[in-house]
Amino acid sequence: MKSGYVIGIDAGGTKVAYGLFNPAGERIDRAQHPTDVCATGESFSDTLVENIRAILARNNMKDTDLDGIGICMPSFILFDEGVVLMTSAMPGIKQFPMRAYLKARLNTNIVLDNDSNAAALAEYRRGAGRGSRHLVYITAGTGLGSGIIIDGRLFRGSYGWAGECGHMLATPDEGLMCGCENRGCFMSYASGRAMSARVRGQMTYCNTTILTPETADGEHVLAAYHENDPLAIETIETIAHYLGVCAFNIYQMLNINLFVFGGGLTNFGDVLFDRVRAEFDKYNHILLPVEFKIAKLGGDIGLIGAAEFVREA
Ligand SMILES: [Zn+2]
Repeated sequence: MKSGYVIGIDAGGTKVAYGLFNPAGERIDRAQHPTDVCATGESFSDTLVENIRAILARNNMKDTDLDGIGICMPSFILFDEGVVLMTSAMPGIKQFPMRAYLKARLNTNIVLDNDSNAAALAEYRRGAGRGSRHLVYITAGTGLGSGIIIDGRLFRGSYGWAGECGHMLATPDEGLMCGCENRGCFMSYASGRAMSARVRGQMTYCNTTILTPETADGEHVLAAYHENDPLAIETIETIAHYLGVCAFNIYQMLNINLFVFGGGLTNFGDVLFDRVRAEFDKYNHILLPVEFKIAKLGGDIGLIGAAEFVREA
């Protein structure tokens, strides 16, 4: 019989966060620790087990009292096999059968998936996508990715990483080299990392900018934009162009008319997203409604989505 209790875990590049959720979906306990970026699959999994056991113990629960544990990571994961092929958060983890390893130590369901899918499911069930039938969640943060909900369920594709829009090619063989070993991915134009790289790269050609190599971050770029800084304006326009084109391509492919945007670049608000919308509209000549929304769930989006993996399974 199902208890309704689940643990969601969000293992990112800086921290690993844990949430225990009750049957009403409320988070009743939370824990976090810094990510050990040198971890191996075994050492990372052992740390998870230790923390899960500590959370269960202080809530007078056993692993068998849970419906399951959902874990999300910025990773390529073979979903059906529960194998982490690689994760950008911990480069030491490669081709690791994490679900089998955890199942041997914890007597409950384990669901492993990537963080964009977790965020998409969280916004669909509990955030800006409530009540919709399909949605595409685009996370524009340090990197760029997406999660796809079709008829109320995550669409994962053949291996598990449907929605890697950040690695779709915008300008093949030209532009910045991406971690995926290609040049010209959307991520190398429309992401926080690309923004900083662009500001630093263009600085030498733009002697009227107030930006410096030390202030090539989102907060300073937005402040410089409000001062009419030409480099800040050009940088924001470039990000908007590629994000708009990326969304347009996804719309053509899937014909899903609800986009929810999350991630650090949403801090730019209308300054960026009015332009993203204008870029999308520039190419879209069929005048049917397409909604752009900003994600509603904050920093716990990964935890909430990871917990929802278990409910969806
Ligand atoms: Zn790439």
